[in-house]
Amino acid sequence: MLIDGFDVSPIEMPLHDKDWAFALATVSSARGFAVRLRAGDLCGYGYAPAIPHMGSTFEGLPIELRRFAPLVKKTDLWDIEALLQRLDSSLFGASQAKAAIDCAMHDLMAKASDIPLHKLLGGALVKRIPVLRILALKPPNEMADKAAELYDSGYRYFKIKVHGDVAEDVARVRAIRERLGSQAHLTIDANQSYSVKEAICAIEQMAPYGVDLVEQPVHRSDLRGLAAVTRAVSTIIEADEAAGTLEEISALVGDRLVDAVSLKIPKLGGLRNAIAAARLCEVNGVKCRVGAHVGTRLLNAHGLSLAASLPKLTYACELGEFARMDGDPFAGIEVIDGYVEVPDAVGCGVSASAELAWQEI
Ligand SMILES: [Mg+2]
Repeated sequence: MLIDGFDVSPIEMPLHDKDWAFALATVSSARGFAVRLRAGDLCGYGYAPAIPHMGSTFEGLPIELRRFAPLVKKTDLWDIEALLQRLDSSLFGASQAKAAIDCAMHDLMAKASDIPLHKLLGGALVKRIPVLRILALKPPNEMADKAAELYDSGYRYFKIKVHGDVAEDVARVRAIRERLGSQAHLTIDANQSYSVKEAICAIEQMAPYGVDLVEQPVHRSDLRGLAAVTRAVSTIIEADEAAGTLEEISALVGDRLVDAVSLKIPKLGGLRNAIAAARLCEVNGVKCRVGAHVGTRLLNAHGLSLAASLPKLTYACELGEFARMDGDPFAGIEVIDGYVEVPDAVGCGVSASAELAWQEI
C-alpha cells in the first residue's frame, strides 16, 4: 500500500506554568507540528516538536517537512528503510522532522497489521511505565512545593532542573529531599550549565541528599569534561545534549565517557534510530532510558511503545510532561498514580480530535 497523502498541522499547547524555566530558556507553551500520512483508508501520525536547543524551531519545521513530503509520497508503507535513506540524502540533520515521519510510518505499519505499535517493536515487556516528572527552575522552596504536590498525586521520580550556581542548586536538592522524604527518587539536569570543577563540586555536595542520576552537567561538546565528571563521582552521569545522534552515542558509550544515555525519539530522528541507540548502549554496558518527550500525547504514545519494548530499561521515563499542558488534540493515555499504561490499542494508541488544522503539503 502506497502513501498517498502527507498533511501537517501546527500544535501549540500552553503550559499551566507560564514561567516554566530551565538553564537555557523560559517557555510558556510547547509547540510543534503533527504529521499525518495517508495510505488508502489508513492514517499514521507522528509529531515533530520545536526544541531550539536540540536544533528544531517552529519556523523551520514546516520548511523541512515540505522538503520531505515529495520523498514520502508514493512510498510503500513497509519500505521505511529506503525512505529514511532518501530523507538523510536530502537533508543533513532535521532529526525532529524525520522522526515525525518515522513515527507516522510505524503507526501506519501497525495499523495495516491490526496490532498495537509495541508489537511491531518487539512486544511490550511491561504493562506500565513509572513516570519521572521535571521540576522547573525556581527558588528552592517553590520547587519543593511543586514536588510535594506531584508526590501527593502519586509521582515518585523527579528531575530537578538546575542552572550552574552550585550553592543555589545544592539548596534546591536539599529543600526537595527534606520535603519529600526518603521514598522519592531524585535526579538533576544541568542542561550543560556547569564547568567540570563546578559539576564535581555540586554533585559531591548533593550526594548526601541522595541523587540517582545527573544529566548533562557540562557543555555538549566537552566530551573530555564529561568523562572527567563521570570518573570523579559515584553518581550516574547521563548524556542528553551530547547524545544527539547515533554517531555521538557510539563515541560516548564505546569509550564509556558516561554511565547512561537519555534516548529521545525526536533528537535521534525516529524509532528505528532510538532502538539502535539502545542496542549500542546495551552492548557497551551503558544504561539508557527514555528522556523527556515534551508535547502532545501523540509523541509520548510512541515513546511508551519504545520504552516498553526495550529490554534493559531500568529507570523511570519522562513520558508524562503532557500533564502540565492544556490543549492536547490527541487523547488516549494518562498518568495515574505516577504511572502511565503502555497503549494497547491498534497503532500508536492515541487518536486525533477534529480540532487539528490539517494542511496537505
Ligand atoms: Mg536533558
